Amino acid sequence: MNRTDGTETSTLWSDGWYQHAMPVASPNFGPRPAQTAVDLVVLHSISLPPGEYGGDAVGRLFCNQLDLDQHPYFQRLAGLRVSSHFYIRRHGELLQFVSADERAWHAGASSYGESNNCNDNSIGVELEGIEGGLFEPDQYETLVALCSAILQRYPITAIAGHEHVAPVRKTDPGAGFDWRLLQQGLGLDSRFFPEREMSRVGARA
Ligand SMILES: [Zn+2]
Repeated sequence: MNRTDGTETSTLWSDGWYQHAMPVASPNFGPRPAQTAVDLVVLHSISLPPGEYGGDAVGRLFCNQLDLDQHPYFQRLAGLRVSSHFYIRRHGELLQFVSADERAWHAGASSYGESNNCNDNSIGVELEGIEGGLFEPDQYETLVALCSAILQRYPITAIAGHEHVAPVRKTDPGAGFDWRLLQQGLGLDSRFFPEREMSRVGARA
């Protein structure tokens, strides 16, 4: 894969903003620690209320504009300040809330490989969906294109799920996510992905 910072890459990204995403600026971010290589992609699933697709609640949550009275479930989100860099909707539409050069607030207490606070060194990608549920072909298509662009721009060494970086607290994106499909779409070696997902060969056949 081409990872040089040539002209091709520079047309895809501008200050950490991906050209093929719709920008929706969230205030929920900060600077990454100095000298931190962005070497991890963390995948999540989210929908608000859970299992209901197509609304604007997730985007509102990431921008601190969610109306908590709109649904009983939203009460538990009061005071939450979260964001992800990217959000892929069921039909593959891609939104970006935080520059990938900045630190978004998606992983919480987490560790993976050498990293003990994955927000520092990762790019967070939320898939509209529910933990354990299946995801749409359009979402994989967008995710593969996005990850390819990320791999060209950042020195990524691993792609993992929230469930892998915070295994005690989190279970997203869950068993319905097809890691092999992502691996094959990206043409990456299995060492980029969580070992336990790569050992599940044929589970989906
Ligand atoms: Zn998550």
